[in-house]
Formats: sequence, structure tokens, C-alpha cells
Amino acid sequence: MTLLHRRIFCRWALRISLETSFSSTIGAGGFSISPKLEFRAIVPINSEIFSALYGAEESFRSQDVSSVIQSTREALFEAFREGKASKSDALESGDTILHVITGWQKYSSRWDTRSRLTWRSFIKDLLQAGLSPDRANYRGQTPADRMISGFGHESSDLEKQQITIDICSDLLKAGGYMTREALDWRHQENVFNPYYYVWRGDGRRTDDLFEDFSFRLIWRITDEKGLQGIYTSKRNLKARDAKLNQDIDLPEELQPLIYKSRKLMTAQLRRGIDLHRWIKTYTRWGDGLALILQSGHAPTEGALKAACEANCEESVKILVNDHKYFIGNEELAIASFHPNQAIVDLIVSEFIDRRKRLQALAEAHLPRSVQDQLRIESQSLLNVHAYEAYKLLAATSVDLEGLLERHRWSVFDCFGVNLDLADRLWSAGFRGVDEIDDDDKTCLTKAWTDTPPCDLEVFLQKTHWLISKGADIYHQKSSGSALHDIGNSVGSILYWMKEEEDSSSKIHSLSEPSTALLRTVLSDITRDDCECACSLNGCSPLTTLLSGLLPTRTDHGTVAKLIHLFAELLRVVLFHSKSEPELDPRFKSHLSVGILRFITFKSLDITHTCLHEYRKIVPEEIEAIQDEEEPLILDLERLLTQFSEELNVHGLQLPSYITGLWRTNMASFLSTLRPHSSKEIAQILELGVILDGHKTQGEDFCILAAAEDH
Ligand SMILES: [Zn+2]
Ligand SMILES: [Zn+2]
Repeated sequence: MTLLHRRIFCRWALRISLETSFSSTIGAGGFSISPKLEFRAIVPINSEIFSALYGAEESFRSQDVSSVIQSTREALFEAFREGKASKSDALESGDTILHVITGWQKYSSRWDTRSRLTWRSFIKDLLQAGLSPDRANYRGQTPADRMISGFGHESSDLEKQQITIDICSDLLKAGGYMTREALDWRHQENVFNPYYYVWRGDGRRTDDLFEDFSFRLIWRITDEKGLQGIYTSKRNLKARDAKLNQDIDLPEELQPLIYKSRKLMTAQLRRGIDLHRWIKTYTRWGDGLALILQSGHAPTEGALKAACEANCEESVKILVNDHKYFIGNEELAIASFHPNQAIVDLIVSEFIDRRKRLQALAEAHLPRSVQDQLRIESQSLLNVHAYEAYKLLAATSVDLEGLLERHRWSVFDCFGVNLDLADRLWSAGFRGVDEIDDDDKTCLTKAWTDTPPCDLEVFLQKTHWLISKGADIYHQKSSGSALHDIGNSVGSILYWMKEEEDSSSKIHSLSEPSTALLRTVLSDITRDDCECACSLNGCSPLTTLLSGLLPTRTDHGTVAKLIHLFAELLRVVLFHSKSEPELDPRFKSHLSVGILRFITFKSLDITHTCLHEYRKIVPEEIEAIQDEEEPLILDLERLLTQFSEELNVHGLQLPSYITGLWRTNMASFLSTLRPHSSKEIAQILELGVILDGHKTQGEDFCILAAAEDH
């Protein structure tokens, strides 16, 4: 137990404060006090030296990084020479100059080789000039820790790995050391990384692996440069004393892992040290994990995910072969995007094997009538009904180890955009692509949430795969069909494509089956139960596509850009097939009526009363909103008559019309909007809106700030 007392004496004349720290230790031999005095000059964040360092960070984006580092180096040494700064200067957080410079690790993934080498030699020069790399900040983090823990999750940048190892070794050689703070946050106590748990705002699946490199980097330092020190029982000593023996100061339980020592591990297990809570951390090293499990501990939940994040094939093998360990939908989902094919094979083949065992047990122990209900057939494998089969079998005395099922789920919800995996599951015997889940949804209606962000072509290929295996595009949900959902997803993907430079060429290179599927979406005339002026008699799949494309809060400039993109899509879909040079007149009218209505509605800023809007609308509200916006809806109807005539008279193609004449007409209509009546102004003011320059009735004004949601 270490008690740390800190005193800060402010030396106002010098505008710096000095810190003294005492540490007292209770060791095995009783109570001893070893006061250690450690002085560091605490300077403000806007001091010359730290301003120069943080100023450099600001310039990294806009200027040549290597030159920025060079000039920062000159400024720093100049300040030392002139006595404007001291080598022991630190911020209130305890961060020293070296902490800030090693903290540049977070920018280094974008740097070129020259910048990385300049960064390394800058640090080397500072070490040579006598800056101490052995200071920990108040979180206990040393500069070497910052190099490792700030590494990130990118596996492909081998040069960045090497420079990290090199800088870290320089720091260790000059007297620095690492602590537990060097490890990834997953091995720290009470540390939470919100990015790891965050859900995408658009509801799509996140396929980020968050690989952990901390142990791999430390092991490489050990292999390449050698790590000083073996396990010492002096861990109660203050870190700087322990440093005399060690390059890394860690809790006892992690020592076998750092040195990959089976001997140390066995000794600890014999001494009864609790390693159960470290199982996930030990998935970084297969031998260690095996020893813990052999000693009688069961693998903890999430261990397989941890082994995947460590990219440790050995540990994955141990866990999937452990029948106490459960493999379910999350594990299959991770396998769908893991970059290591060997790991994917281990998880998928073991999962298929287990499902076969469950099926064999169901066939042997459940009555034929129940098997029929659960659609158990010898030719196929249990999919959505595995959960019911498991529960029924669990009520008997059959041994179900490793076959746990927790809820109804379909394997076809889990393959993401990995069609090889989809094919593999299909050939293993999984069927029932169109089975409904507890919420009445099918794989097709859930395609948006079960697919990570991807290109339109990839999304359409996946959808096409599901349809080709029997998924029903007309499956009815509470409102609308599966095709409505596909339409909405296509619109949303187009919305996200607006920032991409090659969006137009992506649309032009859509494959034949994808274009055909889009044609079905655009031409289908089934309607949902919505009552909204954006589409008369309910929304068609075309309407839901447009509402994905043009979400409620989109400014006019973006709307114009998106309509342009949509026009490209229309050209590709409508005029791609040589066999159909002329469009069916009914299809043509469905398209022009639907599209013109929706985009005009959107340009007039009319409020949606659709049931699937972001805000749940109740029936009474629909009438109230439509009453309030009646003048706008009348404008809409009047404009639509004018636009349809114009389109017919001029014989224009729809894509060119909506990006040309329609746009001009719409803009000129919006610029001559009638002034607000005194009644409307009174209503606006009542809502708490501030009108800039509003003096008397009828004068021009603009709305400065409006309360949200009105
Ligand atoms: Zn609708
Ligand atoms: Zn609507």
C-alpha cells in the first residue's frame, strides 16, 4: 500500500510551482517510510514551451509534418538555452515535455516515413539533452506507456509498428519504463472506452474489430531489443525504485503473460492466485489460457471475442473446442468480418458441428409432430427454431453441453456482407431464409441493421442473395412490405454517398442483377398505411427510397446534390436495358407522379405525417399538422399540376427535368413566397421564435432562431 502526499509550493515570483512528493510503504517486513523528494516545475499550459508543442499539433494537418517537428525542435532548444524553459517543466496533469511529444502517436498514422523518422530523432535529441523519460504523470502514465497505448487498432501499418518499437526502446534505454498504462484499456481496471460500445447513429452494424496491439508490441520489443528484468516481488515499491530491476512494472498476475512464462504461470496457479478474472487478457497467449482452463476455470463470457481481437488463433482454437463455451450469433457475426481466415474457419466449422449435434438430438428425442412444427428435416439444419428445440430438449435429461441457445435468431442475420460465409452456411444445410423472428421481421426487412456501411452494389448483392434463396420481397410487416425497407435502405445509402467523389461512377457500374432489383423497387405500386401529402394513398417503395434519400432535416443545397445523384440512378436503371427502349406508360406515370410530388413536398418544407418518420406521430396529430399546413399543401397541388404539364409538353426525360427545369421553377417559386400574414407572425412569436428586424406587419424579416421541432 502506497500513500502519496503531495505538496505544491507556489513560487509566485518565478511563476512556477514546485511539487514535493513523499511516499511511504508498508512492505512485507512491516512499516517503513521512505520519503522521496521529487521536484518538478509546474508551468501553465500557455507557457512558451507548451504553447510551442501544442501549436505544432495544430499545424500537423495543414503543413509539412517533418518541417513542423524540425522548427519545434529548434524553438525548444532555444528556450532551454535562454533559460525560458527547464527540462523538468511539467503541466498540472503531471505531463512532461516527453509525454506531450510521445502523445503525437495519435497523429502518426497519417505521417510519411520522413516525418516519423524526424519525430524519432527529436525524441532521441531530447533524451541526450537530459530530459528524464522516467517521470509518470498523475495517472501513472510514462512517455513509453503513451507510445504503446496510443498505438490504435490498425494492423496494416507495419512501419508505424516499427517506429513505435524503436522510440519505445530509445526511451527504455535512456532509463524510461513501462507500466500497466501501456496496455490497451481492456486490461485496465475501471477504464471504459465509449467508442468500443458505440452504436452507429444510422442503425447499421459496426464491423470494427478493435484489434489490441499492446501485448504484441511489448513482445516485439522483448524479442528485438530485450526487456530488462525478471519478475520481482518488490512490486510494493514505488515504480521508480522497481525500475532498478524492470523495464515494465505490472501487477503480479500479468507477469507470466509479459514474459510468456509457463513456469511463472504454473507457480502462480499453485499458489492459488486468482487468474479467473484475467481470462480475457490471457486470450493474447494460447499457452497461458490453456493453463488457466486446465486448472479448472471455465472461460468467461466474451472470451472468444477477446481472442479474436487479439487475433490469436491458438486461443480461438482452445475456446471453440471447450464445450463449456457458448458460440452464438455474436460469435458468428465476428467471424463474418474477421481478417484471419483460419480464425473464421475455426468458429464457423465448430458452430456448424454443434448445430448438427443439436439437430441429431432433436431427431432422436423429440416426437415427430414436434419435429414437424419446428421444421426439422434430415436434409436441412435447424436455424431459427434451434432455440425452441433446445428448450424442449433441456426439459429432458439429454446432455446439451456446448449447445446452449438463448433466443430465436437466424444465421442469415449474421453474415454481414460476407457472401462466402452465406454460401457456406447454405451448403451446410441452413435454410429458412424467410423465417420470421419474434418481432415479425425477416432477414430482408432487417437487412439495413444487419449490414455494415458498404457500397450500394454490395448491399444490393446481399439483398439479391437473400431473395435468390427464397426471401420474399412482398413480406408484409406492420406497415408496408420488405420492398419498402429495401427502398429505404437504398435511399439512405445514396444519402451517405453524397460526400464520395466517385459516387457517380459507382452508380454507373452497378451490375445487371442490382439494376434489375432497383427497377423492381422503383416500379412496385404496393402502398403502406401512411397518410401524408408526400405520397397520396400511402407510400410506395419509391416513396420510402426518396425518404431515405432526403431525410427530414436536409438543407436546400444538399437536397439539390442528392436529387442529382438520384437522377443518375434513374438514368442507369431506366435506360440500361436495350430490350426495353420505351418505358411502360403506367410505370412512367408512377415514377413521374411519385418523384415530382416527393421532391416538391420536400422543397416546400412540408411536415411529414408518415408513420415511419423519426418521430412517432399519433393520428390526432396528423390532422392538426395537415390543417396548419393547408396553404403549403395547396401550393404543392398547384405546382404539381404545372410541373406534370411542363414535363409532358416539353417531352423531357424525367432525370433531366428534375435536375433542370424543375429546379429552376422551384427556385423561382421559393424566392417569391408570399409574405407572412399578421396572424402567422403572431403565432410564430407565440412559439418563442425571435424575428430579426420585425417591426410592423408586412415588413421583410428573417427568422433568427427557432425552437426545435416546431
Ligand atoms: Zn409510409
Ligand atoms: Zn411523408
